[in-house]
Order: sequence, then structure tokens, then C-alpha cells
Amino acid sequence: MLPVLGLDADDTLWENEERFHEVEQRFRDLMTPWATSDITDAALLATERINIARHGYGIKGFVLSMVVTAVEVSDGAIDAWSLANIVDWGHEMMAHPIELLDGVLEALDALGSTHRLLLITKGDPIDQLDKVRRSGLAERFWRVEVLPEKNPDTYRSVLAHYGIDPVDFTMVGNSVKSDVLPVLAIGGQAFHVPHTTTWVLEEPDSDEVASVVFPVVEQLSEVAELLSS
Ligand SMILES: [Mg+2]
Repeated sequence: MLPVLGLDADDTLWENEERFHEVEQRFRDLMTPWATSDITDAALLATERINIARHGYGIKGFVLSMVVTAVEVSDGAIDAWSLANIVDWGHEMMAHPIELLDGVLEALDALGSTHRLLLITKGDPIDQLDKVRRSGLAERFWRVEVLPEKNPDTYRSVLAHYGIDPVDFTMVGNSVKSDVLPVLAIGGQAFHVPHTTTWVLEEPDSDEVASVVFPVVEQLSEVAELLSS
């Protein structure tokens, strides 16, 4: 039996953050009669922070946050058609073609020859599983898990479900907060593959980062090389 390697999906295998940035720009433009970009950004972030606890991560929560923020920032003056447009932006995001990051296919082939690949992502199961399906990568994974949140407890429970001892487990992902720190906390190993940008709400606690050491690689393909050496 090959050892299990955990892989994040969004911004590790395919582009995700960029989709949100495109729509955030549209939202700033929509709000210009009432607020500067900075004020709109701050108001949206404050709403998202509250809504993640209620709705979890993903496009649906993002859309609800934009609708609520639009009403608040415009003090109720935003028209109903604009709100309907915001909902359409969400539908557009959900249907956007999957753009694999450079070298992902080759890296998965290499990693899959030495490991059973366990995709671990967080967010809305409908949207996340649909992305796995549309990515064309589904058959490369041994199992796929969509978690509401990535923390030590949820990782522990996934690993327990498959009978994997955390010390035998390695995770790879673009988020220090979600893919690295919680796995190190339960005794596993993790590789950080940074993406171009990190969402403010994915910024890790700086004290926690300072207390641990983990490998950082530029590309997923380097993980395969490091694991085989
Ligand atoms: Mg990610």
C-alpha cells in the first residue's frame, strides 16, 4: 500500500483567488456612486468575516456578502436589478472553466506513482466536487474530501476515517493557515506551495508561523522531487 499524500485544490491545482478578485473589482465599480474602493473593500471583508461562520467558504457566501454589503454601503439605494446582477456574477464564477496551474498534470502523475493522492479542500461541497469533476483530474485521486474548515480537528477526523496515522501523512497546499499549520499541529508534515496572492482571511497567525519550520517550494513538481529524494 502506497503512503497517502494530501493535496489542496484551490490555488494549489487550479486558479481560484483570481476569480474572486475579478468580481471584487466589478463590485467596487458598482459601489462607486456611494463609496471609494477602500471603503467598499473594508465593508465587504467585514461582512464576509461574519458570514463565513454562518455559511462557510465559497461563492454562495461571497454573493450573499456582496448583496448585504451593497445594501449597507448604498444605504438602501442600490436597485434590485443590480442585486440580481451580483447573484449572476456568482453563477458565472461557478461555471468558469477550470484553469490548471502550470505543471500540475505532470506533478500529479509523478506524485501518484509513489502515493495515494487524497484531495482535501474546504468550502461548498456542490461547488468543490463540481470543480473536481470539471478539472478532469478526478481519476488521479484516491479519495476526495470537502471539509467545512481545515483545522487540526477536521484533519484528525479525516485521517482517522481512513485509518491513517498523522505521522505518516504529508499535506501539500498554498495556504499556510489551512494546509500547513493544522497538519503540523497534529504531527504530520506539510509542504507550502505559495500562490500569487493570499486572501486576507487566509493569513496565518504570525506567532504560530514563527514557531514552526516547513519546506516552501515554488511548484508542485518540486514536491515530487523532494519526496523521492
Ligand atoms: Mg488553496
